[in-house]
Amino acid sequence: MIARQPLMAANWKMYKTPEQARAFVAAFLPLIANSQAAEIVLFPPFLDIATVLESVRNSQVQVGAQNIYWQEEGAFTGEISASMVRAAGCTHVLIGHSERRQYFGETDETVNSKLHAALAQRLLPVVCVGELLSEREAGQTEEVLRRQTSKALEGISAEMAAPIAIAYEPVWAIGTGRTATPEIAAEAHLVIRSQVAHALGRHVAENMRILYGGSVKPDNAPSLMNQPEIDGALVGGASLDPHSFAKIVESAGA
Ligand code: PEP
Repeated sequence: MIARQPLMAANWKMYKTPEQARAFVAAFLPLIANSQAAEIVLFPPFLDIATVLESVRNSQVQVGAQNIYWQEEGAFTGEISASMVRAAGCTHVLIGHSERRQYFGETDETVNSKLHAALAQRLLPVVCVGELLSEREAGQTEEVLRRQTSKALEGISAEMAAPIAIAYEPVWAIGTGRTATPEIAAEAHLVIRSQVAHALGRHVAENMRILYGGSVKPDNAPSLMNQPEIDGALVGGASLDPHSFAKIVESAGA
């Protein structure tokens, strides 16, 4: 069986000023100093990135952006390009988070453009997919996951795909306190992995990390991380507190 290194990611959404971000890192680093098992990434708001990068220096913690635009530069007021994110020192980027799909017009097509831009800048993209509650209730989960995954990967070759991770985030579980059971999550991960295999071959699929996201907390993280199909967690609310995120990170090595 292939051993995929767990990726434990904190999505801070639109929370924390630079000072609050600095305080988080100061409290967090000692708590995870002995955690070797997982790759740990913080995704702060853009304005906090420089502060967080400075604060995590000489630690194993890496920093990513919550979004990018797909053009390199130009008259695109308010946007940030992949090359800017890379130049600032980020290693990772979130693409297609459901809040961006829901509130900011992100589509399968823009997700695909952003994925190409991220890979061109050697960023490690975490592409978010997941069904709405209405889609799950209508029995469309598999179809939605297959569509989102295959459209995201359009024009991506097997050779380009190694850095990509996918986050399965059922929209009904994000910020609701309603977590997918480990079995529901694992079943969705199998669908996503089989779609990756269909698009890019079995080898790429077996090596690709698929994270679970949606109300991950310290108490449910161990049973989720226990599933061989779950290769990490994308954590929103519970990543805002250093103790709670550190506990979740620990569950990756248990
Ligand atoms: C997220 O922001 O990706 C997320 C899963 O949020 P929460 O953990 O708060 O559900």
